[in-house]
Amino acid sequence: MQTQVSCPQCGTNFPTEVHQVVDSKRTPQLKQALLNNQLNMAQCPSCGFQAQLSTLLLFHDPEYEIFMVHVPQQLNLNTEQREQMIGQMAQQVMNALPQEERRAYMFQPEIMLNYQTFMERVLETEGITKEMIARQKEQSELLRKLASADGDVMDFLIQENMNLFDDEFFSMLQMFLDQSLQMQDSQSAAGLTNLRVKLMENTPVGQEMQRRQVALHQFNQAAKKQGGLSPQLLLDHLVENIDDFAIVDGLVAAGQQAMTYDFFALMTAEIEKREQAKESATAEKLTELRDRLLEFQKAMRAESEKMLGAANDVIQAIINAPDKQQAVAENMGNIDDTFMYLLSAQMQEAQQADDKDRFKALAEIQAILMNMIESQLPPEIQMLNQLVRTESEAEQNAILDSNAAMISPDMLQVMDRVIAQAQESGQAEQEAMLKAIKGKIEARL
Ligand SMILES: [Zn+2]
Repeated sequence: MQTQVSCPQCGTNFPTEVHQVVDSKRTPQLKQALLNNQLNMAQCPSCGFQAQLSTLLLFHDPEYEIFMVHVPQQLNLNTEQREQMIGQMAQQVMNALPQEERRAYMFQPEIMLNYQTFMERVLETEGITKEMIARQKEQSELLRKLASADGDVMDFLIQENMNLFDDEFFSMLQMFLDQSLQMQDSQSAAGLTNLRVKLMENTPVGQEMQRRQVALHQFNQAAKKQGGLSPQLLLDHLVENIDDFAIVDGLVAAGQQAMTYDFFALMTAEIEKREQAKESATAEKLTELRDRLLEFQKAMRAESEKMLGAANDVIQAIINAPDKQQAVAENMGNIDDTFMYLLSAQMQEAQQADDKDRFKALAEIQAILMNMIESQLPPEIQMLNQLVRTESEAEQNAILDSNAAMISPDMLQVMDRVIAQAQESGQAEQEAMLKAIKGKIEARL
């Protein structure tokens, strides 16, 4: 639902989208936003200020039978108001579900006054336990202490907290480091870099990372030298590092492209060679790795086939629907990168097969989607898109006439930004057109 909010920083009133119901099955994208702490985040179009809106929030996970409502204290509801609002909300959610999906637990929504407890339950459905969150908190506190510690204290803290250093700790450190580089805080960046070097040398996970980095560097250098990756090169490096699990995994990830049919044939030949040379330990490890990689490839292929199949079902359902516009809106939760990829691939196929009806139907879906995406853009950008798409000057003038309220110095600023973008990406034609439009707007001010 749309609501009108007023920016606490500059006072601008603007409309923004509020979501009060998150269903892990029906609206997974909203759950993702909730997990990323981006749900109901409103951004002021005028000054850029960002804040989260306080609202009742119902979370439903049919798999875990969780049906709970978070009631923020800022809403200042008394018990009666609260019960009433939650009752209404639960009723609405239930009514929207097909009969066969309604369950008894939905009659009694759990009330969560504490946001942290609410989020802990949500995270549990992702397999993230309270213990994991607590560990993460400990790690971030330790990182903060380490960042401001010097010499001896740093060494002491590292020795005392050996069990807290893992891959997660290193990514947290990397995030801090990136932030201080971005903010050009060279003192803290230097401190964190120094800490990183120390941890790489003195912790088991750091030493492992270092070994992996060195091995990957050698692999990349060798690939560069021979003009690119090849199955043989990948195999050579895998054989050389077969005893080190961390390196093998790194090479596998970096060498994906070279994992072709040839690669597996070469690997089988290598295994036979090692067996004949009575190097049975190496042969065994290589066999294990080959089986694991084949299994992995099979799983990847099955997964991508499943995703394409699901996307194909959605496309077909939309084509068959009496009202495509409505069908697209209802399937918004299923429209992702795979869907967009498949849609354009099928358009190409239809064109090649000269199947005009199918092409028309697919193109219609694409146009509806583009319109929907566009309708979520700020009004200035929407108008600009319309202007860029028109063929004639008369049409452009008509658009400008009907959007007179938007013709302002602010609009010129928007234009400058868009022109700069076009310039940076080398779209000369686009840039010239935008400049011409800017001239027209200036003339009207
Ligand atoms: Zn503002």
